[in-house]
Amino acid sequence: MHYQSTRNKNIVVQSAEAIKMGISPDGGLFVPQHKPKMSKKDITALAKLTYNERAVNILKLFLTDFSEQEIKQCVDSAYNKEKFETDNIAPIYKLDSSTYFLELWHGPTCAFKDIALQILPHLLTQALVKTGEDKEILILVATSGDTGKAALEGFKNVAGTKMIVFYPEKGVSEIQKLQMITQEGENVAVSAVEGNFDDAQNGVKAIFADDQYKQMLSDNGYKFSSANSINWGRLVPQIIYYFSAYADLLKNEEISEDEKINIVVPTGNFGNILAAYYAKQMGLPVNKLICASNCNNVLTTFINEGIYDRNLDFKTSISPSMDILISSNLERLLFDITGDDHLRVNTWMQQLKETGRYEVADITKEKIKEIFWAGYCSDEATCDTIRQAESEYSYVVDTHTAVAKNVYDQYVKATGDDTKTLIVSTASPFKFNQSVSLALFESEEVQRKDEFELLEMLAEKSGLRIPKSLLELKVKNILHKTICTKEEMHQVVNEVLFKS
Ligand SMILES: *Cc1c(COP(=O)(O)O)cnc(C)c1O
Repeated sequence: MHYQSTRNKNIVVQSAEAIKMGISPDGGLFVPQHKPKMSKKDITALAKLTYNERAVNILKLFLTDFSEQEIKQCVDSAYNKEKFETDNIAPIYKLDSSTYFLELWHGPTCAFKDIALQILPHLLTQALVKTGEDKEILILVATSGDTGKAALEGFKNVAGTKMIVFYPEKGVSEIQKLQMITQEGENVAVSAVEGNFDDAQNGVKAIFADDQYKQMLSDNGYKFSSANSINWGRLVPQIIYYFSAYADLLKNEEISEDEKINIVVPTGNFGNILAAYYAKQMGLPVNKLICASNCNNVLTTFINEGIYDRNLDFKTSISPSMDILISSNLERLLFDITGDDHLRVNTWMQQLKETGRYEVADITKEKIKEIFWAGYCSDEATCDTIRQAESEYSYVVDTHTAVAKNVYDQYVKATGDDTKTLIVSTASPFKFNQSVSLALFESEEVQRKDEFELLEMLAEKSGLRIPKSLLELKVKNILHKTICTKEEMHQVVNEVLFKS
């Protein structure tokens, strides 16, 4: 299996190289040249396997330059009881006779990004050995909250790598900030940046684009890579849990062999839902993929009208991990749906860069609408949905998952479709304790409480156990106190790399 760039099909590499580079030198994203197939028999056979065995089965189809033994090692190092507070990594919660939540937040940082970021460092270290890399890998991350902490936890103390995470000083929740500034690990560092997420991200991009600086780092034995969902190594582990969830539904006799399901995904960078699309292309019986957005609803307009327009005002919402106007992974869908037309993808991406907008042809639009359905909801509707799920089902969801549930309800209303449906639950409600509490309790009551009292209050209401990793924050030392301006980010990198 080889991988090609979405902007130039003639750039072809093996998976180890794709994972090491993160992004193709022409700015394109790596995609598999062919999608492997899972037959009905293969899928049914998954039902009897553990999550880790299912993972090996899926990954070996894509990572053909890794041995099965190497893949198994990566999988077992990532998915175990030490890291995940659940036996089967991605459990399903049955809400009613046709609605199921796929809970992807039982990992160390309480959001779904753990599932990919726990295994990526292991895939990357294998890839370094495989490609004979002699440089140390340097990963810079700009984060609006969830990615940073999940990346830090994944990469801490991983040999051959260094990671520096930049977060906007005022752009993350209290819990998210605490999670990052207490981060342990010899090879990781964290710095706040004055300004918003865009400032942090632009600062990182400026470092990536600085050839002279890159050369200096290279002379000192460092090479850049990415832990972002543009990296194939982040995307491929996400395909696993769609197959695994389907296998669990089969095993529990909730569906029959070959029965189609809908999948609803709360979407930001289009990574998670793209993994569901790949699963469908591989043979997973899927009826509709439902793309749920918050008020930053560029994807809703794109899927419904074929027009991508990022010239909207960026809005901050109570589902911050979906506050995004450029969904990078959409490029992979466009490439696939146009039959690998890299010239057309180039044109659109050029237009996006120059004017912030592009429009696809009717035929492409129709193809997308056959597979996807899209909707969005406001913060107010998100809170209503949290309240409603709690009062009707005694099930407490986080703000991102609530967006998905709300959009799913809109879908059912619009179509009358009663196909069994899997809603992807992307974060623990405890991680967004402020917003979830404000939806469920009186605001004066919430304002009186500190972060940890809010966790207690939510635990009582939901009947859920507070995740260990959040409770521990109370007694952890603050290890990262650096605050810098956008212009000082180079300096922070220098200090981390060359301090001793
Ligand atoms: C990152 C994130 C999302 C969005 O996922 P994408 O793959 O970027 O579309 C949704 N919910 C939560 C909690 C997240 O952390």
